Amino acid sequence: MEKYILSFDAGTTSSRAIVFDSKQHIVSIAQKEFTQYYPHPSWVEHDAKEIWTTQLTVAREALEKAGISGADVNAIGITNQRETTVVWDKDTGLPVCNAIVWQCRRTADICDEIESQGWGDAIRKKTGLIPDAYFSATKIKWILDRFDPDRSRSRNGELLFGTIDTWLLWNLTGGAVHATDPSNACRTMLYNIHEMDWDDELLDLFDVPRKMLPEVRNSSGDFGNTSPSLFEVPIPITGIAGDQQAALFGQTAFYEGDVKNTYGTGCFILMNTGERPVASRNGLLTTVGWRIGDKVTYVLEGSVFIGGAVIQWLRDELCIISSAADSELEAQKVADTAGVYFVPAFTGLGAPHWEPDVRGTIVGLTRGANRNHIVRAALEAIAFQSKDVIEAMKQDVGVLTSLDVDGGASANNFLMQFQADILGIPVCRPSCTESTALGAASLAGLYTGFYKSMDDLKAGRENDRVFMPSMDENMRSELTEGWQKAINAAKSL
Ligand code: ADP
Repeated sequence: MEKYILSFDAGTTSSRAIVFDSKQHIVSIAQKEFTQYYPHPSWVEHDAKEIWTTQLTVAREALEKAGISGADVNAIGITNQRETTVVWDKDTGLPVCNAIVWQCRRTADICDEIESQGWGDAIRKKTGLIPDAYFSATKIKWILDRFDPDRSRSRNGELLFGTIDTWLLWNLTGGAVHATDPSNACRTMLYNIHEMDWDDELLDLFDVPRKMLPEVRNSSGDFGNTSPSLFEVPIPITGIAGDQQAALFGQTAFYEGDVKNTYGTGCFILMNTGERPVASRNGLLTTVGWRIGDKVTYVLEGSVFIGGAVIQWLRDELCIISSAADSELEAQKVADTAGVYFVPAFTGLGAPHWEPDVRGTIVGLTRGANRNHIVRAALEAIAFQSKDVIEAMKQDVGVLTSLDVDGGASANNFLMQFQADILGIPVCRPSCTESTALGAASLAGLYTGFYKSMDDLKAGRENDRVFMPSMDENMRSELTEGWQKAINAAKSL
């Protein structure tokens, strides 16, 4: 009887479940959106119970669509939106309040205060992160300050903390397993990525008792079995990784120097730096990719805030394209942007510029510029911004030979070709662009022997298309210089 891996992809806006076969091919997909709560400007919350129930529903739906049952599932892998924070009561299983989502800015002032006390450097060194409200530490503190001000309940283990992977795992195992993996732990800003343990000094600083934290187990390892009531038979859970690291794993970017870019609303670029945590001199994050056996793989991470979102803006605000996919055709109606550059810094500039107050701009307009030039400039901007991050990685680490891509906007052939041209390296788009879910499935299947080895996984990766660079060097430098001027123009406004 053929067996399958069930992958849980717990995203920011929807719960998804995907069934994979032994060839890493998708057999079925089910997806359900859940509610986003915005109780105040810049606050974002989720109902953790709704995440659990939608995740369970889609898992059952995916099995049904595949025509299989729990008994046909070899193992479960989990991947998740990172940093989002849940605190729940161990006895009732109920969260004490809504989950605080990674995007939520409510704890920005706690971060400012900690920076002003001079903690920035120590946090960077221990966690590899740049102190920010984005990460879980200040979110846990915020919840405890309101629901357990003297920390009595969290100190005696009555209250538990988890990121979404941990919350799902705890529910899947009927409360038997309270654990996470290092790729999620390292995004809490409480985990020492060199010692690979929760950091006592940081736990003190944020007033978070160790007792409430999950045990950190290998990303490909034993996380217990599902309660028999859920899928009729117990299923082993053997893989967990945060979404971006899972995508890197799903891309089979296993070796030092391998890089992937996920082109979604924003772009997330991760480079495998092997067993070495590289401290960036260019404002990138140092984080854990995964731990398998006794080997830790580290990554450098940089993100572009506005990636595919600039295409949504062209569609919804400027109304010059009718769908995101149309941008490809429109951009190709002109030979170039006629000197137009678009810097979509709607929410400031991220790595490597780190200028939160810069705003977007379009420069180089002439009387002949039309909407096609602007659409083309917007697509090129996604590639230029990604190049800026990748160049920063190159400065920190060295050479780069190719780029693996996934995410919604990686479907755009014009964008992928321009990305290859402007970087001067091949861009590889796999047949399975569900890299995140595939990464969790691969971690799970690797532990049970369903997938034999990482080399086998790599050999099983199929490319849909490889975009070879074809732009000449002069043109590449000219365009890069133009982009740089546009960035400087945006910064000078
Ligand atoms: P997320 O996971 O962040 O929601 P997705 O991976 O689903 O994002 O990708 C959606 C984003 O990609 C949207 O911002 C959309 O504008 C953009 N996008 C989707 N298809 C295309 C395309 N063919 N060309 C350019 N952008 C696209």
